[in-house]
Order: sequence, then structure tokens, then C-alpha cells
Amino acid sequence: MQTRAAVAWEAGKPLSIETIDVEGPRAGEVLVEVMATGVCHTDAYTLSGLDSEGKFPAILGHEGAGIVREVGPGVTTVKPGDHVIPLYTPECRQCKSCLSRRTNLCTAIRATQGQGVMPDGSSRFHCEATDRLGSNTVFHYMGCSTFANFTVLPEIAVAKVRDDGLHQSNGGRPRQGRAGHHRSDRRRR
Ligand SMILES: [Zn+2]
Ligand SMILES: [Zn+2]
Repeated sequence: MQTRAAVAWEAGKPLSIETIDVEGPRAGEVLVEVMATGVCHTDAYTLSGLDSEGKFPAILGHEGAGIVREVGPGVTTVKPGDHVIPLYTPECRQCKSCLSRRTNLCTAIRATQGQGVMPDGSSRFHCEATDRLGSNTVFHYMGCSTFANFTVLPEIAVAKVRDDGLHQSNGGRPRQGRAGHHRSDRRRR
């Protein structure tokens, strides 16, 4: 499918609204229609070029809320129509970190997330306009990429909103945003 997104082509340049191709969710992934997104210092930090992990072109944005529209094979915890919050720190409930009882910084997909791709190593975003760079890949950002009308996330990177907290109860906008954080919360390998 095609959708519109604010693409960060390169560090220090303004975001540009583009039509991009979004590939459907693969195994263990979900397609989410983003209903609202926040703008965080961390997005600006990466766009500035100071973020050593920053990759371009990318669809920034990591604080948002949306509705699941499609799920890939094997997805069991959410279904189309569920309202969800994308999580830049997922919760797989199985990795060493999740089971340690000493941290909630899940490490299951951190390596690929830092590289701007899904856990299988590829991106779901492509844009013809990137041909000038020799590749039409547009990278994911912090596992979320909420500056798009549709985004693809790993199943473990969405939190289902309780049915009594649905977005439309507030005119289509999500309720109170999550507490702030800094990208430095993430530990690097
Ligand atoms: Zn943030
Ligand atoms: Zn985990």
C-alpha cells in the first residue's frame, strides 16, 4: 500500500512529505494506522546529525498511538481494530533482560532496531524518490516511525490500549501522552 510520511532525507535538512510504499506485515509484525504522533527532542536530536545511530533516509517519530489494521502470520496478542501504542522499547517477555527482574529494557530486537530495520533485517518502507541514492529503502526509526499515516511494527513493540481507553473517546486523539524519556535510556551493544 501507499501512504504519506514525513521523510528525513538527511541530517540537518527539513522533513519532507512524501508518498511511500509500505509493505504489509510479515510474520510477527503488525500494520498500524497512526492516529496521532508526538514530536520529541529525540527526533530533533537524530535529525540534527548528532545521533551516532541515526540513519537516513528515515521516517522519524517514536511517540504515537494508532489502530492495528493488519497482522502478519503468527501474531496472537493483537488483532485488527485494536488500539495500540508503539513502543520504542518493546517487551518480548522472553529475552534475558525481560526475565531478569532487574530491568525492563528488552533486548530482543535492539540490534536491528538500531540499524533502522525490522527484526528480519529488512525495511517495510520504500520510496521512489530515494533512487538518487542508489536504493529506494527508507529506514525505520527507533522501531516506531510514527511520522507516517501507516507504519509496521513488531508485535512485541505495541501495547494494546484497554477497551475503555479508546482513541475516539477523545475526538480521535489519544489521551495523555507517555512520560518523557531520553534516547540514552537505551543501552547499546
Ligand atoms: Zn521521545
Ligand atoms: Zn525481551
